[in-house]
Amino acid sequence: MSTQERITLFADVIVPLAVPNLFTYRIPNDWNELARQGQRVVVQFGKSKFYVGIIARIHDKSPQDYEAKYIKDILDATPIVNETHLAFWDWVATYYMCTPGDVMNAALPSGLRFSSETRIIKNDSFSLEEAAEDYFTEREWTLVAALEARTELSMLEVADALGIKNVQPVIQSLISKGAARVMEEMKGEFKPKKESYVRFTSEINEEKLQEIFKELEKKAVIQLEVLLKYIQLSQWHTKKPISVKKSALVNSSGNSSLNSLVKKNILEVYEAEVSRLKQSEERMLQSNELSIGQQEGLEKINKLFIDKNVILLHGVTSSGKTELYMQLIDDAIQQNKKVLYMLPEIALTAQLVNRLKKRWGNKVGVYHSKFGDNERVEIWNGLIQKEPLANSHQPIAPEYSVIVGTRSALFLPFSNLGLIIIDEEHDGSFKQQDPAPRYNARDAAIYLAQLCSAKVILGSATPSVETYYNALSGKFGLVELATRFGGVEMPEIVVCDLKEDTRKKLMKSMFTPYLLGCMEQALHNGEQVILFQNRRGFANFIECKVCANVPQCTRCDVSLTYHKKADLLRCHYCGYSIVLPKICPACGSPLIETKGFGTEKIEEDLALFFPKARTARLDLDSTRAKNAHANIINLFEERKVDVLVGTQMVTKGLDFDNVSVVGILNADSGLYFPDFRSVEKTYQLIAQVSGRAGRKSKRGKVVVQAYNSHHPVITRVMGNDFIGMYNDQMEERKNFAYPPFTRLIEITLSHRHQEDLDAMAPALADALKNRFGNDRVLGPEYPIVSKVQNFYQKKILLKIERDKYSLKMKDMVVDSINVFLKKGKDYTKTRIKIDVDPQ
Ligand code: ADP
Ligand code: ZN
Ligand code: ZN
Repeated sequence: MSTQERITLFADVIVPLAVPNLFTYRIPNDWNELARQGQRVVVQFGKSKFYVGIIARIHDKSPQDYEAKYIKDILDATPIVNETHLAFWDWVATYYMCTPGDVMNAALPSGLRFSSETRIIKNDSFSLEEAAEDYFTEREWTLVAALEARTELSMLEVADALGIKNVQPVIQSLISKGAARVMEEMKGEFKPKKESYVRFTSEINEEKLQEIFKELEKKAVIQLEVLLKYIQLSQWHTKKPISVKKSALVNSSGNSSLNSLVKKNILEVYEAEVSRLKQSEERMLQSNELSIGQQEGLEKINKLFIDKNVILLHGVTSSGKTELYMQLIDDAIQQNKKVLYMLPEIALTAQLVNRLKKRWGNKVGVYHSKFGDNERVEIWNGLIQKEPLANSHQPIAPEYSVIVGTRSALFLPFSNLGLIIIDEEHDGSFKQQDPAPRYNARDAAIYLAQLCSAKVILGSATPSVETYYNALSGKFGLVELATRFGGVEMPEIVVCDLKEDTRKKLMKSMFTPYLLGCMEQALHNGEQVILFQNRRGFANFIECKVCANVPQCTRCDVSLTYHKKADLLRCHYCGYSIVLPKICPACGSPLIETKGFGTEKIEEDLALFFPKARTARLDLDSTRAKNAHANIINLFEERKVDVLVGTQMVTKGLDFDNVSVVGILNADSGLYFPDFRSVEKTYQLIAQVSGRAGRKSKRGKVVVQAYNSHHPVITRVMGNDFIGMYNDQMEERKNFAYPPFTRLIEITLSHRHQEDLDAMAPALADALKNRFGNDRVLGPEYPIVSKVQNFYQKKILLKIERDKYSLKMKDMVVDSINVFLKKGKDYTKTRIKIDVDPQ
């Protein structure tokens, strides 16, 4: 259209920086028809920095205050983010009080942002001498130093230099501070995997083929063999031949026969893209028949979905919730809709994916952060709606109907989303802590579903107080499954008093005699045991017997945890580690003892009590490798492991049918944290771990060891009394004005110098008190860990009544912060972190 070409068009582009606004760029006239919303573009920012950004909108209004630069390049032919998702990004940025760039960084797999081939170079126009010491974080300084020495680094080298995997945030931050930039060459980050295929040339038809047969029979039997094999593999006679890989036709004598056939213009070789993702056989098992209770539940869900968008499925552990989800997935697939199935943790995906693949084969995709970049990009691209390809020989890009994923899967570019399942909806891992956006994937999913006209099902045996409140008040539908599938009994819960057994000197390591007895019995019967301990590592800390010195992290206000296998003292907040000192660093005495029990120590002690038992450990340390978690779970499932020791990871959603005893070694350790959710979390934890016991034929037993065995929450768990716990909590939350009666915004200030922080934090708190009133602002206070990575921190908590909460209030918060930052030059050295709905 020639009229189009004359119009000057502009694009508002989201850049991967922590800036509040979008930037407007000019679209070169030639590209007017190429440029579309949702495409990636390369844009210049400042004098010498180039970024990959996304076009958020296209319009014809030139910016008022600056002259728009030209877009340098358009990277995609088809948009990689659709309009609905861009609207969703916008909501996430507004609701969670972060920048559009933060959201883009969380949403796009890094393969679409940088490639591993991308090289970071030092920005020559930046003067290091002029940078204040605290202009960079510790990590950033490390990277700056590495760039000084080498001028140019690949992503891998950056990861090496920093000793961490996730390097994007550090790089991004260094770029935004002007000290580094990305070398050009941003194109083609994603390299499709190619494979050679074989097909008949267009000259071949039935008649011709007969002639060729006759000829080859006489002169070239081996070529004939290859040809026949092709005909067989391609199912040529069905008239709908399927693609045949070249490698399948190459016989022991090599390529030569195939090459001759190609030379004779009978066959031709072509290249096509193949998937990196493992393709399993399509099996398509029939669905299980639902029990009467499940059937009723399903009918109720479908009825409620007529006028509710969100339903809470509250079903006790092993009640068959997953089976119900599978029915709902079936229904969605029937209607050609896609399903997003979210789980709080990667560790859970393996078992579920196996279960789903048995029914839907390759229609099931997986998406989480332990997947390689290319695999993630492939899933992403597989979901983008593309124009159908003309070439029928193009291999089938996997068409996913169900994606199982952790929270980041929420941003996948679904185009026809019908249902979002959020299993274990109460789980804190749905909330991203750092970096921004600090979003809760459960809550954000509800908004996304609304944008897509999709339905949401929240499932849990122990719903969060907020969700249960929403269900009781009618905002969500509520469906309950009160009994376990197949009439399996709820496990027997026995509480052991740690205080008493310690006093009587009956404890063996972290085990009461009762728990050891139960384990003995189970192992004797060939049954399995799960042990839960809240701490990883070997000992919580080490202490000098002479001077009581406890080695602390040099950057954080916490003691270091002892990891025996690595022989290191490690900080669980910043990763700092030192070799275990042979003598006390304070007094020089060699009498150092370990205190407290981590999972590593529990596993080691097991060998003393049960030398024949095969043990395994499931925690952050044992699952760092890509498939480690799945491997451990498989071993346990195949009964090659008798006792599984783990942290939170063993509490969630796993389904084993031979576990008869579950031991919770220190059940009330979480209760004494100053957290208004601590009772709720403790209830969820004990109930969830208990749920792993006795799932099929036999009633299981749960041994709950606790120092305060009479705590009300333990009584509630023993009585399987969720409602009782909920009512206790609601009363307390009402009295102290906590969610669901209020909404919280937590503001964390941090600074290198304690005195400065102590002086500044009250100033911001006062400003907020002036605006919102004294009752709504708590703090500033030091959190339990008051220093992390050399930064002291203080928190201010804003509580706003549910019915008063609005976007305007968030604007007021931002405004107060901006006013505060303008107060003095030093104030800009304060880092401010905003967390909406902190977990
Ligand atoms: P939940 O998700 O509530 O923990 P699951 O769906 O995992 O429960 O079900 C618990 C166990 O019962 C699983 O082993 C599952 O295979 C089995 N189960 C549930 N419903 C059925 C059904 N309708 N037919 C056969 N087995 C079922
Ligand atoms: Zn000492
Ligand atoms: Zn530390």
